[in-house]
Amino acid sequence: MTYHSTRGQAPVLAFDDVLLAGLARDGGLYLPQTWPQFSKTEMAAMAGLPYAELATRVMTPFLDGTLHADDFAALVAETYAGFEHAAVAPLKELGRNDWLLELFHGPTLAFKDYALQLLGRLFDHVLTRKGRRVTIVGATSGDTGSAAIEACRDRAAVDIIILHPHGRVSEVQRRQMTTVASANVHNVALDGTFDDCQDMVKAMFNDQTFRDELQLSAVNSINWARIMAQIVYYFAAGTALGAPHRPVSFAVPTGNFGNVYAAFAARRMGLPIPQLVVGSNANDILTRFFESGAMRMDGVRPTLSPSMDIQVSSNFERYLFDMLNEDGARVRAFMEAFRADGRYTVDPAVMRDIGALFSGHRLDDEATRQTIRRLYEETGELLDPHSAIGVAAGRACRRDAATPMVALATAHPAKFPAAVEAATGVRPALPPRLADLFERPERYDVLPNDLETVKAYVRRAARVTA
Ligand SMILES: *Cc1c(COP(=O)(O)O)cnc(C)c1O
Repeated sequence: MTYHSTRGQAPVLAFDDVLLAGLARDGGLYLPQTWPQFSKTEMAAMAGLPYAELATRVMTPFLDGTLHADDFAALVAETYAGFEHAAVAPLKELGRNDWLLELFHGPTLAFKDYALQLLGRLFDHVLTRKGRRVTIVGATSGDTGSAAIEACRDRAAVDIIILHPHGRVSEVQRRQMTTVASANVHNVALDGTFDDCQDMVKAMFNDQTFRDELQLSAVNSINWARIMAQIVYYFAAGTALGAPHRPVSFAVPTGNFGNVYAAFAARRMGLPIPQLVVGSNANDILTRFFESGAMRMDGVRPTLSPSMDIQVSSNFERYLFDMLNEDGARVRAFMEAFRADGRYTVDPAVMRDIGALFSGHRLDDEATRQTIRRLYEETGELLDPHSAIGVAAGRACRRDAATPMVALATAHPAKFPAAVEAATGVRPALPPRLADLFERPERYDVLPNDLETVKAYVRRAARVTA
């Protein structure tokens, strides 16, 4: 199986090169040229498998022989053995046909671990085989940085440098990054805002010479392998609840559209999903799109669910490519319009197809708090603000009470203790593996918002040039 770009002008690549490339050279995102299909018999046989075994079955067709089957199975087994819960992605019943899929049992307590823990291992494996190394550089406003650091720590072929805005991330978030005692992990507290951090990373990537010299790379959410790893838990939850014989719907708190695109991918592979609900906070570009057919950029507003505070849902381009019959030239035209005018509009006929599967629902911070409180009263479960948006959106939009609706819990409540305590009066405790987070020594360097200073730091940190 080979992969093509949503904009149709980048070279077609095999899995291992797509993994390392991230973004396609034409600015597009990579997708498989043909989708693996699972028969009803194959899906029925997935029910109840150990998570790692199911993950290997679901993902192996995407590799198309670029990795040895045994090597891959071992990487997957090692990845999910590091998760705290024996079921890896346990389902909880909230009410009749109302389910919660807990995706916060990885090392940094957010769903991003499910993909990034595998991605770090895949990077290391493929790079080592090719005799290459990379320097991963990224900016974070909180969550992504710690998941990326945990994924890359101690990997021989990788150095990772993460920039966060000095004094502007929460203490839990900072400590999750700065207490990782690995020689290949480097934290920079930049004197500036998150936007300054992002601009700094962009400037480094835009400097071709520097980029080549350091073999710069990213593990951001447009990497195909992240989507691939996220497809797995939809099959796990779906088959546990009776698929393929019974359809199962999902409600996903959404930012970049990566997680919910993985649900769409599972559907393309045969999982019977009649409805996908997209939950958003006040940053509701997707909800407005589902209502109006117009994708329109807006400023970012800070909310209780910061990992969904986004201006643009970059992975939506993958779904658009599908909706436009895989016509790269049309996707290119849409994305050019978006960049030029901050908006594009989709035909009513296409919108009808989109609306048949997707619905969007927005929750402001007050409604999010109310949902957290109500769920705690109804079930005793503490939900983080992102997960609460998923649950509320699923309940508000469900079309068929007889079909299970599975809401994705994307973060552990202890990642957002203040919001949860304000809503319920209960302060959620960190799980045992992080209980001593506030006692661990921290390591980070404060740097001025100056490109040359940061470049010099990256040069010193990276072993590529050693
Ligand atoms: C990243 C993140 C999201 C949004 O996921 P997307 O794939 O960007 O849609 C939701 N909740 C939490 C806790 C996250 O960290």
